[in-house]
Amino acid sequence: MSKARYKALLLIADGMGDRPVPELDSKTPLEYASTPTLDRLAREGECGLMDPIAPGIRAGSDTAHLAILGYDPYKVYQGRGPFEALGIGMEVRGGDIALRCNFSTVDESLRVVDRRAGRITEGTRALAEAVNGIEIEGVQCYFKESVAHRGALVLRGENLSPHISDVDPHAEGEPIHESHALDPNDPNAIRTARVVNAFVKLSYERFKDHPVNQERRAQGLPPANIILPRGAGIAPVLQPFPERHGVSAVAVVETGLIRGIARFVGMDTMDAPRATGGVDTDMLSIAETLAEALRRYDFVLCNVKAPDLCGHDGNARLKAQVIERFDTLVARLLELYAEPFYLMVTADHSTPCSVRDHSGDPVPLLLYGPDLRGDEVLKYHEYACARGGMGRLRGGDLVPILTQLMGVQEKFGA
Ligand SMILES: [Zn+2]
Repeated sequence: MSKARYKALLLIADGMGDRPVPELDSKTPLEYASTPTLDRLAREGECGLMDPIAPGIRAGSDTAHLAILGYDPYKVYQGRGPFEALGIGMEVRGGDIALRCNFSTVDESLRVVDRRAGRITEGTRALAEAVNGIEIEGVQCYFKESVAHRGALVLRGENLSPHISDVDPHAEGEPIHESHALDPNDPNAIRTARVVNAFVKLSYERFKDHPVNQERRAQGLPPANIILPRGAGIAPVLQPFPERHGVSAVAVVETGLIRGIARFVGMDTMDAPRATGGVDTDMLSIAETLAEALRRYDFVLCNVKAPDLCGHDGNARLKAQVIERFDTLVARLLELYAEPFYLMVTADHSTPCSVRDHSGDPVPLLLYGPDLRGDEVLKYHEYACARGGMGRLRGGDLVPILTQLMGVQEKFGA
């Protein structure tokens, strides 16, 4: 039985924040878009601006979501390896060591001919399966292919350390490096480097005459005959979100990266059946899944990817259209789930069309639900929200605001 008096949904439009766009009459895409539902919620609720990590910091979607879920990204994010692995759907547990990897081409003396194996696009899954799940010195080695020549290696076992050097020499014509402990007196790092070196050798043995590479040689393509790891990081041990807050929690997400982060903090995940993760995603399908999630869980996180993609493409008109469809998602959800609950709508960072990448600009924030003080904001966009009653917050402030309204937060003090 849940002790939550109210449920809550933290709804994140990825990269929605923007800057004024000349072709949109110098309005932001959110300001330009027609968003009657979000405007109504802004009128009836409370608004503000939010810095996902801190003012001016350009957040990635991974670090921003960690911050927004209440985990200090500067403590949690120790190397990209674990988040690279999470992003491609690998299971990563606290204490695991994860490394980013390339499928590469080496000659018989293990000299690098092509770090990206001719930017291989096909056959990497079969190669990955040839080395995934092997055990070296009692350490489980999980390997999965990602896009093109990329992949990730996860090591799970006792006495491991991320403090090891790269195997990838980061240059062609050079021999592959042996990984070694950064501190020669660190026995865990010595052991981890030994495991990584053994894994690399094994990948060469299993790949060099693999059918995928026989085929590539026949076509005159460089064989993907070795895995070169780099950028070791350790996945931290975190207190799971449900345990920390005494709530059941689920994430409705579209991308592997956010799904990985949600699982990593101990949230369940649900898929909207017709969500694509693209600009063509089915917003109404997401609304249906969110209504179901709210029936089953206390706390729901949702990330909708489309606005960020438009920002990266610099396509302001499409971004405004996508935001209009996002508004219909909210409208449909409120029809499907009519119980009082707390809804927070924000973004994980700004992706201005003029920048075509994430910026450090704060994002609009909206809180709607029963028994709020309210403020004088009438619309939901970057300028209107700047005058809102919640002022300017940081990502780490959001969950406490919600848990106190949900009635699950313990009093601090007498
Ligand atoms: Zn992005």
